[in-house]
Amino acid sequence: MTKITNRPRLRFAPSPTGNPHIGNVRTAIFAWLFARRHDGDFIIRVEDTDQGRRAAGAVESMLESLSWIGLDWDEGPDIGGQFAPYTQSERLDLYQDAAQRLLSAGRAYRCFCAPERLDNLRHAQQTRGESSIGYDRHCAFMSDTRQRELDAKGAEYVVRFRMPQSGISTLDDIVFGPLQFENALYDDFVALKSDGFPTYHLASVVDDHAMRITHVARGKEWLSSVPRHVQLYDAFGWDMPLFAHLPIILATDRAKLSKRHGAASVMDYRDMGILPEALMNYLTLLGWSLDDKTEFFTPQDLASVFDLERISRSDAVFDLDKLIWLNGQHIRQASAPRLAEAIAKCWEYDPPPFDTAPDNGRTADIVPLVHNRLKTLRDAAPLVQFVFTDGVEADTGRLVQRGMDISATREMLRDARDRLARLDSFDSSTLERELRAMASDTGVKVGQLLGTLREAATGQKVSPPIFESMEVLGRGRTLSAIDKAVERLR
Ligand code: GLU
Repeated sequence: MTKITNRPRLRFAPSPTGNPHIGNVRTAIFAWLFARRHDGDFIIRVEDTDQGRRAAGAVESMLESLSWIGLDWDEGPDIGGQFAPYTQSERLDLYQDAAQRLLSAGRAYRCFCAPERLDNLRHAQQTRGESSIGYDRHCAFMSDTRQRELDAKGAEYVVRFRMPQSGISTLDDIVFGPLQFENALYDDFVALKSDGFPTYHLASVVDDHAMRITHVARGKEWLSSVPRHVQLYDAFGWDMPLFAHLPIILATDRAKLSKRHGAASVMDYRDMGILPEALMNYLTLLGWSLDDKTEFFTPQDLASVFDLERISRSDAVFDLDKLIWLNGQHIRQASAPRLAEAIAKCWEYDPPPFDTAPDNGRTADIVPLVHNRLKTLRDAAPLVQFVFTDGVEADTGRLVQRGMDISATREMLRDARDRLARLDSFDSSTLERELRAMASDTGVKVGQLLGTLREAATGQKVSPPIFESMEVLGRGRTLSAIDKAVERLR
């Protein structure tokens, strides 16, 4: 286990470019679990420096997804904190000062190259088949006089970081171990753009330092940025946080999981009837394991055992069937009030076509009927439709069971009605005792009796166990449903 001396501070730094993707949320979960495990802080920082890719509402839906799945944060754009603001576009002064520091120290320079020149350069490099495509340092050694001339003309410039042209940058990654990068393979990248906005590299390093981040958990796709970040930290003279680069999430076709594989955003899974605790459990298993065999974890379990060091280097495959299976396990383990709450929420997002709006009391009543039968929360509505239907319309054909005719069925229903009307109590075990006794008294088959009653009481081909279903309906509604069925058989 990583030895933690200081209170850890981890951040999740989404770019608000669209719907929160499963991969991003897994990163957030890992950072959150580690922070919670070690009584640290979990911080949300919005990385919106690429204004062109900003999508309206993306921050709000990210925060909504994170809190739906069960994360909470100690500092963030919505709640502030000691290092506010937590949105990069509101922190531009900081990056501009930092860029100025790099310029003064000679670790960066102003580059006046026009976009056309850069395009041509890239094009020529590609045509020549050069392995390192990048900036040719055209402006790296520009004289002060020339710079003043360009300034006088109001020429636009970016600030480029001067990468060392020799030596190596090293990182001891928590997941990938010791890594080495040859500096000469990296070009002088843009740190500050001409509009005064920083690039990701500068903003991320400046903020991780300013916000006293101790551990950075981020996707493996950022590994290639490591040498740039190592050199930035060096140029500023700052200590680096520890890094954990996380394996990629692949779809079953082994391509990176994306929209084209169907649901890729967290809310899609909510709408499919997945419990947030099941999704957190499943996403945590994508790239992490406790002991290679335990699969069921509650969020509390995870927050007490999770460790960055048990993250795997191999890419993980997202398997929807496995998620649905795990969701079934979480449904089974959920307490009745928890399951009722989750079903009620699911019906709020996606109201089922019931005659009566489900109130909390009735929703709680149906939990025993469905607890062991659901794979997703959406499976509940069709099973319990009858509870929320004003008058069940039984199907005459299905009322009459094989081996019976209409009049025998009618007699059987009348007899059942009389017996049920006389019962002292209307709970499922009393109902079961009485109806089994009736079958043996009268010689009808239990299957015939219960099949007819199921149709009469629920009008559904598939329903929860009939005794429990009648108990939930209560005596009054059960008897009038039977009356109605008798009526139909006239
Ligand atoms: N804004 C980056 C992203 O959305 C964050 C990368 C990082 O965590 O450093 O992927």
